[in-house]
Amino acid sequence: MHFTEPRAAMGALDVFEAAIFAEARTIVDWNARNKFCASCGGSVHSTWAGWKLTCSTLLPWAEDTGKKPCATATGLHNFSHPRTDPVVITAVVDETGDKILLGRNKKWPKNFWSCLSGFNEPGESFEDAVKRELWEEAGVKVWNVRYHSSQPWPFPANLMCGFYATANSNEPLRTDLDNELEEGTRITQQEHREIAASAENSNPNANPDAKDVKSTSAPAQQSSSAPPFKIPPLTAIGGVILSEWAYGRAGPQPVNPKLGNL
Ligand SMILES: [Zn+2]
Repeated sequence: MHFTEPRAAMGALDVFEAAIFAEARTIVDWNARNKFCASCGGSVHSTWAGWKLTCSTLLPWAEDTGKKPCATATGLHNFSHPRTDPVVITAVVDETGDKILLGRNKKWPKNFWSCLSGFNEPGESFEDAVKRELWEEAGVKVWNVRYHSSQPWPFPANLMCGFYATANSNEPLRTDLDNELEEGTRITQQEHREIAASAENSNPNANPDAKDVKSTSAPAQQSSSAPPFKIPPLTAIGGVILSEWAYGRAGPQPVNPKLGNL
């Protein structure tokens, strides 16, 4: 058996099927990548139907004469558990609430834009990860970080955690700090809705809200000769947090002054 190309299949899966797929792919991949004990280098064997790995030197029949017992033989951490790597993905809105920051990674197709994202680092809260990533990738200082929702992203073991944050749109964007972004831009809610409507015309399942949009003017990036301005679909959390903001259903909330700029 083999896994099909998941991003292409995603649109055909319902929520229940997608959850099974994400779980299965993560567990199979984790078992395939982890063959040896990280503590002593002995081989591992799979237990609990693949949900845990145990050092084979702990088996009663293991040959361990003259060897120190593996450190995993004691304490609660005597199993390896499947890893989950949290990634923060953030829709950065300006103070007016009407402009959102999009970036284009150097590895992405020329016309594809999305929210900025990055891995959580050890010892870091989600809020701090959002602030650090936005500064590193775009030179943007954000505050008012608010969680929205999350999505398993089993390629191989990410958990995408979606946030909104506020930033000053008058500050120039910088892409020279970690050189991940090719460029950044800001679009309005109206421009987002028109881009979503144009995607809806080419894919009826792209965005159910987009059917209701009357296009008043094409966004600056949508001239007839330019390649289409593409944003993530609603099957990806980046598309969800952008769409929820564009249709006025979510975004940064007013700050409680007693808590400061979290
Ligand atoms: Zn071991």
